[in-house]
Amino acid sequence: MTIEEAKNRATELRRIIDINSYKYYVEDNPELEDWEYDKLFRELKEIEEQFPELITPDSPTQRVGGISEKFEQVPHRIRLYSLDNSNNYEELKAWYNRVLKDVGETKGNQLGLFSSNYDDIELVSELKIDGLAISLTYKNGRFVQGLTRGDGIIGEDITNNLKTIKSIPLKLFEDVDIEVRGEIYMPITSFDKLNKEQIEQNQKPFANPRNAAAGSIRQLDPKIPAKRDLSIFIYTVILDKKFNIQSHTDAMDFCKKLGFKTNNYKKCKNIQEVIDFCEDMKEKRKLLNYATDGVVIKVNSFAKQNELGFTARAPKWATAFKFPPEEVWTKLIDVDFSVGRLGIITPVAVLEPVSLSGSVVSRASMYNFDEIQRLDISINDEVLIKKAAEIIPKVIKSRKTDNSRDIILPEFCPSCGTRLIEVEGEVAKYCPNKKQCPAQIKGRIEYFASKQAMDIDGFGEIIVEQLVDKNYVYDFSDIYKLTEAQLLTLNLVKEKSAKNLLEAIENSKNCLFSKFINALGIKLVGKESSDILAQNYKDIEELKSATYEDLKEIAGIGDKMAKNIYDYFKDENNIKIINEMIALGLNITNKYNKEQNLRLKGKSFVITGTLDTLSREEAQGKLKELGAKTPNSVSKKTDYVVVGSSPGSKAAKAEELGITILTEKDLIDILKGEKNV
Ligand code: NAD
Repeated sequence: MTIEEAKNRATELRRIIDINSYKYYVEDNPELEDWEYDKLFRELKEIEEQFPELITPDSPTQRVGGISEKFEQVPHRIRLYSLDNSNNYEELKAWYNRVLKDVGETKGNQLGLFSSNYDDIELVSELKIDGLAISLTYKNGRFVQGLTRGDGIIGEDITNNLKTIKSIPLKLFEDVDIEVRGEIYMPITSFDKLNKEQIEQNQKPFANPRNAAAGSIRQLDPKIPAKRDLSIFIYTVILDKKFNIQSHTDAMDFCKKLGFKTNNYKKCKNIQEVIDFCEDMKEKRKLLNYATDGVVIKVNSFAKQNELGFTARAPKWATAFKFPPEEVWTKLIDVDFSVGRLGIITPVAVLEPVSLSGSVVSRASMYNFDEIQRLDISINDEVLIKKAAEIIPKVIKSRKTDNSRDIILPEFCPSCGTRLIEVEGEVAKYCPNKKQCPAQIKGRIEYFASKQAMDIDGFGEIIVEQLVDKNYVYDFSDIYKLTEAQLLTLNLVKEKSAKNLLEAIENSKNCLFSKFINALGIKLVGKESSDILAQNYKDIEELKSATYEDLKEIAGIGDKMAKNIYDYFKDENNIKIINEMIALGLNITNKYNKEQNLRLKGKSFVITGTLDTLSREEAQGKLKELGAKTPNSVSKKTDYVVVGSSPGSKAAKAEELGITILTEKDLIDILKGEKNV
């Protein structure tokens, strides 16, 4: 590889890693499997090791995690790091050898160049909990602050949410000042239960227990984490001389004594004992009620840890061995062919139910017709399935049985019966009946209403299916014309849920430009490209009149995508639907259009009393997003006081100071942009 090639590949890798880190750390919504992400990360690291001059300070190899603006950001007193990791024992041994060379005692006092010339160093192996890193500060034995790891330097203040976790002691057994760090996780049984509820309520299920835990604890409203079953394992104490603790294992025992929940550890005399522990845990961990993604190995002595120090993003005195992704064999009973919103036909494997990574799996993705041929899969085959980042796992291998029989590939659309077509240069088969195919209409509407698009709460598969079948909804604008009477004719919809649905539809009218573009479902244009378009075009009017040449010049919008976008807005029917939605009250805001976005900049709002529709934290969060300040007390500098039910003395003080009082309704109207201040 020439340096020029290495530079280009490193830039490309950093771009992909950054996008996926954001999805993982900030949105709690990863699209890649962890091992896929790790592979890219490792490739980047190898390039940077070969060409150190290519390392940039903002390279993902030099940084940790990510941070969202929705919580108060608080600097960590002492930095939080990530961990280097390996997925094979050779790398683990290489790490141990480096440790020995750096801090090992030479055997018999001879100067040794190889690890075998050193005395062994005591290590500690513990399970790597797949959750979210947090730090907890206690003053005089009382819990005072809890932060996420964030980017390691600054964390998000989630104290109130952490207080809802029962295994975090609010008061320790000793009145000490101490900072500890640990991993928040969701037990697998609670994760399965939560996902069942999500599906029942037409909400997207969480990809895995880690995302469920991170997504629950990083909510503005503490009522949500309080309802979810979360727990913690403490794995580090910030050293303080006064405790006179000399090793990691002593620190863990001390934590236990203070009342913290810690996990078991194993002292290992050398790296072979660590490898034995990893092998042992590969299977045993499957019996645990929490997700683990590896083993963390630490040098036990604090003195040696101090000597070893840190790299830019991880301690040199610790590393992680990552377990390989889980796979399991089962039987392929049948294949379903589903029709997506863009008409693509996807084969879905119907499986003999089998347990995989803590949940029972009965369906798996097979991507496309070519994949069936490539893997030579037949019905009644034994198939090897593996968990992907999405809930639905994929088939990765097959072996024949005596009963194996060929899969008959459809020639006609399973939804509308139209003859399928192939598009040159694409592997997929399509149903060309874009306008009338019920499966495509349903897919489009469902995508439009989904969380990553217009975010219409409760508008999931079951509701959409009925609305389309009853001809109440054909295109997007029909959603905004739905009546309560129509909704009440649907199965499982009672008066309260009809009202909730109408309210969710109404709320979705105030939407972000990037989400609106995504909702339109233009071929190849996903969440990221929609975001790029919102950064480049002020509003929908500007985007509508963009030329193909303009569009393809934008970094991140390829030729094909530019053509699809251009064609989409040239279609009069599409324009008619968009105009109709705007006429029905759609209010699209572009967060990249600074003036529009920060329309409350410089204004200060104090909230007192209980609000009916929003928690105080939610209201403050929404005001902050628009640039407002939200102090907790009223002063001469306060511009508005929002008064809910049972207000405190702040309402009286506001009146005394002649500050404008707002009702909850005023606040909602201001947030929606329907009332100016
Ligand atoms: P990491 O999860 O690999 O390791 C560091 C973390 O391990 C620590 O911060 C701590 O929270 C945790 N940990 C759990 N048990 C521990 C113990 N006993 N002792 C010490 N620490 C313990 O590193 P990371 O920086 O948090 O995340 C990087 C990883 O996240 C990647 O390797 C990848 O697997 C995943 N990731 C995936 C995507 C994706 O798109 N799928 C994106 C970004 C990151």
